[in-house]
Amino acid sequence: MEPAAIQKNDDGTLNIPDCPTIPFIEGDGIGPDIWRATRKVLDSAVTAAYGTRRRIDWLEVLAGEKGFHETGEWLPTETLETIKKYIVAIKGPLTTPVGKGIRSVNVAIRQKLDLHACVRPVKYIDTVPSPMKRPEKVNMVVFRENTEDLYAGIEWQAESEAAEKMIAFLRDEMEADIPEHAGIGIKPISARNTKRLVASAITYALDNNLPSVTLMHKGNIMKFTEGAFSKWGYEVAQERFADQTITEAELYTKYDGKPPAGKVVIKDRIADMLFQQVLLRPDEYHVIATPNLNGDYLSDALAAQVGGLGMAPGANIGVQAAVFEATHGTAPKYAGLDKVNPSSLILSGAMMLDYMGWKEAAQKVRQALQAAVKAGTVTYDLARQIDGATEIKCSAFAEQIVSHMA
Ligand code: NAP
Repeated sequence: MEPAAIQKNDDGTLNIPDCPTIPFIEGDGIGPDIWRATRKVLDSAVTAAYGTRRRIDWLEVLAGEKGFHETGEWLPTETLETIKKYIVAIKGPLTTPVGKGIRSVNVAIRQKLDLHACVRPVKYIDTVPSPMKRPEKVNMVVFRENTEDLYAGIEWQAESEAAEKMIAFLRDEMEADIPEHAGIGIKPISARNTKRLVASAITYALDNNLPSVTLMHKGNIMKFTEGAFSKWGYEVAQERFADQTITEAELYTKYDGKPPAGKVVIKDRIADMLFQQVLLRPDEYHVIATPNLNGDYLSDALAAQVGGLGMAPGANIGVQAAVFEATHGTAPKYAGLDKVNPSSLILSGAMMLDYMGWKEAAQKVRQALQAAVKAGTVTYDLARQIDGATEIKCSAFAEQIVSHMA
């Protein structure tokens, strides 16, 4: 088997060779520990599913602290070019350098590769400790816009020349009432980026036979950004999916509250209210599409309902490339201790296998991980919540998962 690049067909589908080259960034802090564990589990799942017919040819690319030490750049151009070439990549967490040139390497990767959707599935895995009474009702996928909103990084420090200039402009030309010497941040939300995000969320719901897409926003207060997000979300549903979607209002006016088969219901909820609904009535929500900042808060809060950050996978998906990554950060206090839970990155790897159409291997990863948790020999974060559990190291947990790979 010769390694080869994944290719994109004209219709957007992927052409996956039997031995695709997949770039990886091992990450900073706990990154190397969880990456080693993940690679072992993914390789083992591919072999268990396909024998010698398929394998992944891993290719390391640099970023973060390792990138900076070896090339002098936090995010070398070669890394971005390699990911563009091979289309699918996976990464560990990266340190955000404080006060050094680049704002956030993670945000830069998303913006430079135009990975517009951050996709975070939140599904309960049986026996994982949860603060919910009925955690099995939690099964949602968050589509968080990834390239704009307050995370666009357009902000000026209080009392800086730029902030004072902005304040003068806003007061003098826009009649805005701004406090003296305020720091200023800008919140751009556009029709283009909203519509492509919501279209991805609706497509996901249709592909996976899910009953609803909820637009989460604070449009009651921020009318022309978050309110517009909701308006444009409904618009794209009508423009591109008119035959496959209905609004929640139509559900009651035309269908007596009973969703017709095969139609996705598009609804919207104010962000603060949705935070309580996902706790009280989680089974009413399936796909949630939301601007960047809301999505960041919501996906971590949902992760807590199904076992915490160590169990939460994620992917950043664009038109040209997709980068799969753990939801959590570098947890520096545990760096190099071979201690933390690798499940977040392992489950991100399972999402990657699904994305590649290697569904049998993805399923093997999830089944084996669940069996390992059920057996009660787990990393510290789960061990401290499960009565009678035995704590094992990150690498040993990966071995446990592999031993359950049927
Ligand atoms: P963090 O690295 O996510 O860690 C916060 C806490 O979450 C840890 O102390 C630990 O809790 C728990 N945790 C995280 N990963 C875990 C795992 N795999 N297994 C078990 N528990 C885990 O957040 P942070 O300390 O705020 O951020 C550290 C650095 O990471 C910063 O530079 C930040 O910018 C960066 N970051 C990167 C990404 C990314 O690469 N996408 C995302 C977020 C943050 P306990 O202490 O309770 O054990």
